[in-house]
Amino acid sequence: MILTYKVKHGRDFSDELRKAKKIANYAIQTRSRSSKDVKHIGLKSMIANQILRKYSNDSRAEKVKSVKLAIPHQGIQLDHEHKTIYAPCLKLSLRYEFPNNFEKVNQIELGEEYAYISVSIPEPEPIEPNGWVGVDRNTTGHVAVVANPESGKVLKLGKQALHTHQKYKSMRKNLQKKGKYGKVKRIKDRESRIVRDINHKISKKIVDTAKEAGKGIKLEDLTGIRKGKKQAKSFHCALNSWSFYQLQSMIEYKAKLRGVEVAYVDPAYTSKTCSRCGHIGDRNKKTFECHTCGHVDHADSNAGFEIAKRPCIDRLHIDRDMCKGTTDSPKTALV
Ligand SMILES: [Zn+2]
Repeated sequence: MILTYKVKHGRDFSDELRKAKKIANYAIQTRSRSSKDVKHIGLKSMIANQILRKYSNDSRAEKVKSVKLAIPHQGIQLDHEHKTIYAPCLKLSLRYEFPNNFEKVNQIELGEEYAYISVSIPEPEPIEPNGWVGVDRNTTGHVAVVANPESGKVLKLGKQALHTHQKYKSMRKNLQKKGKYGKVKRIKDRESRIVRDINHKISKKIVDTAKEAGKGIKLEDLTGIRKGKKQAKSFHCALNSWSFYQLQSMIEYKAKLRGVEVAYVDPAYTSKTCSRCGHIGDRNKKTFECHTCGHVDHADSNAGFEIAKRPCIDRLHIDRDMCKGTTDSPKTALV
């Protein structure tokens, strides 16, 4: 699996980035792949080559707004012990905090502020699950609710997220009224970092829970109904849809790294279906009640159990959507 880590590089590459943009536009116009043609622009040929290769092939690109500096595998030196990466062509040294469990650094892309370090990580053989936990993400007050039908256990995760979102939303509103737009942006970034951190913790907990129980993870396939009714009423809509998909992609890659299977189910009526008898019941705020069999449960728990019970569906169509958080190649999770 390829993961891309984002690390602050602390350097000013604005000159190089300007040159990179020139080269990219040249590649788009001429389809040239020869670094001799762009030698006069004055960017290191190793980086120029990467940019030419990328943009001369891209038939959809017309004019590019921002281009990253790309350093290939062979231009990168690695010190595992001191967790340092060195790129001689730019005399760039990067300290990384991420785990050393990767096989190699595929490439590094540099933007104005961040380095995107793409690494290959070996994948374990997927473990055949002895059942499933269901994860409900359209809950009444949490980011996710995990239900294990076999043990009857329910785990409610991320209660603080809504509070965080509301706090930052009102801060942004106040600043906007005062016309302090620079500060609005900073507050937004801070909130994104907090939400990302919450999502990291929640996805880890979900995968740990499934792994320990020997189960796979079932999620609702919510691709098609992002703006539908169900989503509109959900807790997650109160947050942001990006955070929703961020959590999903984190669950996916963390599960893959540990051999835990992830499957998707049809989301229709999961919150209204009785997880015990399968009939449609009443959902009233946080309570679910089935008039057929008399089952009463917390609405989120009932939905979690129902998701765990449903058959898996084919979800190949979702993959393209899942990759939106990436910088370059598909099948990459940005972490
Ligand atoms: Zn029932």
